Amino acid sequence: MASASLNIDLDALVANWTALDARSGAGTRTAAVVKADSYGLGAARVAQTLYAAGARTFFVAVAEEGAKIRPYLAPDAQIFVLSGHMAGDFETLRDANLTPVLNSLDQITRQFETLPDAPFGVQLDTGMNRLGLEAEDWAQAAPALLAKDPALIMSHLACADEPDHAMNAQQLAEFHRMSDGTGVARSLSATGGILLGPDYHFDLTRPGIGLYGGRPFEAALPVATLSLPVIQTREVQPGETVGYGNLWQAERVTRIATVAAGYADGIHRVLSNISDLWAGDAPCPVRGRVSMDLITADVTDLDEVPDTLDLICAAQGIDALADIAGTIGYEILTALGPRYTRFYTERGT
Ligand SMILES: *Cc1c(COP(=O)(O)O)cnc(C)c1O
Repeated sequence: MASASLNIDLDALVANWTALDARSGAGTRTAAVVKADSYGLGAARVAQTLYAAGARTFFVAVAEEGAKIRPYLAPDAQIFVLSGHMAGDFETLRDANLTPVLNSLDQITRQFETLPDAPFGVQLDTGMNRLGLEAEDWAQAAPALLAKDPALIMSHLACADEPDHAMNAQQLAEFHRMSDGTGVARSLSATGGILLGPDYHFDLTRPGIGLYGGRPFEAALPVATLSLPVIQTREVQPGETVGYGNLWQAERVTRIATVAAGYADGIHRVLSNISDLWAGDAPCPVRGRVSMDLITADVTDLDEVPDTLDLICAAQGIDALADIAGTIGYEILTALGPRYTRFYTERGT
């Protein structure tokens, strides 16, 4: 029995990066955000593929993630660490040639004490109140920081997936106010910000979810397909129930297929009884609870039960599934755990 497989279409990944790069326009470089193992799709392979497509700048969340991808990238690839320089990180930052994005006066001190000559970026808080220097700290630290020639000044938009939200223009104005005239390369936008238009692009954009086929980049090609092997099928009589808590009861003679994946594989338990698995474009309703390692689905209407049923596929993309689960595509992807065998397809392979 083959295990559940996560299939990653690298051509679609490259097409999404290229499309976002084209939207970023001349004079703006397009990075790739590969934190959280490239949103669960495998950072080493994703980073390598996007480097080959032309990406030279990568963002990870923490230093360890940067160290993991460094061996797969040429020395001219710059890897920024969004959480900055945390205590105990300096050897990892140094050995993997990572560029921390400094977020606080503490981090600035730590950087200058341990890695005084190493490259760094600076994050400014323009209103999200999550990471970055606030205006006062920036005013205090700017002379010393700018004297050391930062590789990047960046900030992050809180509401970029809502184009009409007043917060976007507010943060844009604040970013200008804090960074105009510094002469340093600047970055404000992730996927959502790219779609807000050229005012938001500055020197470097930082898409993540759009590369992986998710909203708000509606034109994105789907990248991930999740196929779950059918272990067993059985016939259930009217009145019989399926799974924990008898959550579902048959009203007709029903063919139930049991597939090998469950909430321990990052498939949200809230999908119990309300989502579908798919045989191509034929829906097979999930019947009963999603359990730890198993899901049961109704295959009565299929002429033939295939070897695998899909949870993420052309008929049910990550955002469609997220809508059913009451979450976002980001969480659907990053929840997919290490149990899946990841298969990569690329032209000619
Ligand atoms: C995650 C993240 C990104 C990428 O965001 P997407 O919405 O996935 O494009 C960019 N910048 C920062 C600071 C982030 O945390």
